[in-house]
Amino acid sequence: MFQDILNNIQRYLNQQKELYGDSIIVDDLFPGDVPEVENKMNKNKKNIEKIKIIEDSLFTNNYEEWYECEDITSLKSKISTCQKCPLGKTRINFVFGIGNPDADVMFIGEAPGADEDEQGEPFVGKAGQLLNKILQAIQWKREDVFIANILKCRPPDNRDPLPSEVEKCEPYLIKQIELIKPIMIVCLGRIAAQTLLRTKDSLTVLRSKVHTYHGVPLYVTFHPAALLRNPNWKPAAWEDFKKIKSDYENNPLKKLKK
Ligand code: URA
Repeated sequence: MFQDILNNIQRYLNQQKELYGDSIIVDDLFPGDVPEVENKMNKNKKNIEKIKIIEDSLFTNNYEEWYECEDITSLKSKISTCQKCPLGKTRINFVFGIGNPDADVMFIGEAPGADEDEQGEPFVGKAGQLLNKILQAIQWKREDVFIANILKCRPPDNRDPLPSEVEKCEPYLIKQIELIKPIMIVCLGRIAAQTLLRTKDSLTVLRSKVHTYHGVPLYVTFHPAALLRNPNWKPAAWEDFKKIKSDYENNPLKKLKK
């Protein structure tokens, strides 16, 4: 219903744009006075921005069909043959991500490793098994959350993602977030967090606060592989997960969208 209204507004605005160009005159509207009007205008503005990105990409020949995907399954089928960076040539599988397409919580790592590349699923190796155990410990099921990586293809020898690879692949992650609409993101490990948050801050600093990524609260904790290498970090990781779980439980938005 609301989507229909938005579609009509979009159609109307597109018509107006064709007729009168970029400017728009709205009679007697004082957005600051009426919060609902302001909310609707903000949402509408986001939609107009989206249309503009698609229009601009049409003009610059950068348009890609997946921009307009409206569900996770069609996004997966549109991007899984990606060859935008050299990792497309060396991968066995494109590791899209897995879990509930309507998840409240998304876990994000840096890139698939050898096991993930072989099986086409994120966090299935030893680190993934530890992640499963941690999820069980806070009474969460792997299939209820969504697990993904910044890069969808394995970098050779598990090296850190290159900026050029992140530039090509991160838009897919952003689109996943746009479709899943999580209320919380948990970033696994320093490299993933530094990459998403564009910072060189240490893991200790990054773990000490809640960040925001594309409008979603983002928590940083240890990469499970780091916990396997340094088991003495496990108590600190456990504190992180207890906070993540308790903030989730206290979040009024949880499960509202289901
Ligand atoms: N490490 C990651 O960051 N992601 C995986 O999927 C596996 C290991």
